[in-house]
Parts: sequence; C-alpha cells; structure tokens
Amino acid sequence: MDGFLHLIVTSPSGAGKTTMVRALLESFPQFVQSISNTTRAPRPGEIDGRDYHFLDRGRFDEMIAEGDLCEWAEVHGHRYGTSMSRVRLARETHRGVVFVIDVQGARQVKAAIPDAVAVFVLPPSWEVLEQRLRNRGTEPEEVIQRRMRNAREEVAHYGLFDYLIVNDDLQTAIDELKGIARATVAQRSRRAQRAEMLLRSG
Ligand code: ADP
Ligand code: 5GP
Repeated sequence: MDGFLHLIVTSPSGAGKTTMVRALLESFPQFVQSISNTTRAPRPGEIDGRDYHFLDRGRFDEMIAEGDLCEWAEVHGHRYGTSMSRVRLARETHRGVVFVIDVQGARQVKAAIPDAVAVFVLPPSWEVLEQRLRNRGTEPEEVIQRRMRNAREEVAHYGLFDYLIVNDDLQTAIDELKGIARATVAQRSRRAQRAEMLLRSG
C-alpha cells in the first residue's frame, strides 16, 4: 500500500469502460492510466504505446518470467497484463493508477493493493451490450460472439467490486465514476495526515 488512490475499472467488453475512463482522466490529473501489454493484434487506429503495448506471445511470456507484470490474465483468447514499471511511474509522480482490466486482473490487484477501489461497469442489457460491440465496428462477428459468451461469466463476479455503475446514459455513468473518485480521495484514511498536520501546526 502506498497511500495513493488506485482505481480498478472492469466490465464486459463493450460496456463502455474505456470511454468512461478517458473522460475521468481529462478532469483528474492525479491519475495515470495503466497502458497494458497485450498479445492481441492492434485494431485499426490503435497506436502502440498509447492504447496498448502490442507484444508477441514470446515477449509477453518473458515479461511474466522476469516478474515484470504486476497482474496478467488470458482474456478472450489473448494475454493482457499491467507492467510494474507503469505502477512505479505513477508512484514517482505521486499519482494513482487507473487499471482498466478484466475480472481476473481485478482480483490480483485487489490482493496486492487492498485499498484500491474497484468499480464494475454493467451494460443496461445484453441486447445493448451486443449493439455497442457491433457499433464499435472493431471486431469480426466471431469475436463479438465470443465476447458476448464471456460477458455473463464476467458479470457473475460483480460481488468482488466496491461499486457498480450501469452505463445506460453515458454522461450519467461518467458523473458517477467521477463522484466515486472524488468521494474516495476524501476518505478519512487518505486525509488523516492533513488533520494531523493542522493539529501540529501553530
Ligand atoms: P469497453 O472499453 O468496455 O470495451 P468502449 O468504451 O470501447 O467499451 O465502448 C464500446 C462502444 O460503446 C464504443 O463504440 C463507445 O463509443 C460506445 N458507448 C460507450 N458507452 C455508451 C453509452 N452509454 N451509450 C452509447 N454508446 C456507448
Ligand atoms: P480489448 O481487447 O477489448 O482491448 O480488451 C479486452 C479485455 O481485456 C478488456 O475488456 C479488459 O477487461 C481486459 N484487459 C485489458 N487490459 C488488461 C490488463 O492489463 N490486464 C487484464 N487482466 N485484463 C486486461
């Protein structure tokens, strides 16, 4: 534990977590987003080093062996993981990390950083989720079907999370995520030092 607020944001693929986190980061400079490593191929428009670090399986497995990942998981047939270096960078710049990861990764981060705040984003319905995956236009049909099959299993783990946001209206969902971040930084455990400093000052 390092005293910083770390946020975990998880959802089935297509529920909207990437869109919501992008909006959060625009107004919360005290966070850095973790740029994950993945063995999946880049989508059109995705940039290596901005959206993900795209690696082949051999390099990914080397990172596991060398202990370079603070969590990793196999998701929808590809490997995804967060670099230790990203978390170190956040600490050095006195910022928290927003982990945009799957349920298995969320469990690992929660075990390593118990005071990390975990948010699960629910789609309003399965139909809407499928529609969003289709409208995004980034995956072929068989990948959409695979992600829909995995979605139910992911939602079944909602009990691991501190907060649930239903992403129906996007702005409302973003406001809730910002509200969670704002309330969490003001928790007594994170502000106690300020009270103590005041008590000790003249
Ligand atoms: P995830 O990161 O969870 O896979 P994305 O953020 O990529 O999901 O969102 C999936 C698609 O749904 C994107 O095309 C995004 O623009 C759209 N989207 C996200 N939230 C909403 C919403 N509340 N209403 C309508 N479309 C949305
Ligand atoms: P996508 O292929 O749509 O970018 O991501 C698929 C899923 O992989 C996401 O929904 C997210 O849950 C998960 N994911 C992305 N990065 C990571 C990571 O670094 N670690 C883990 N455990 N999961 C990740």
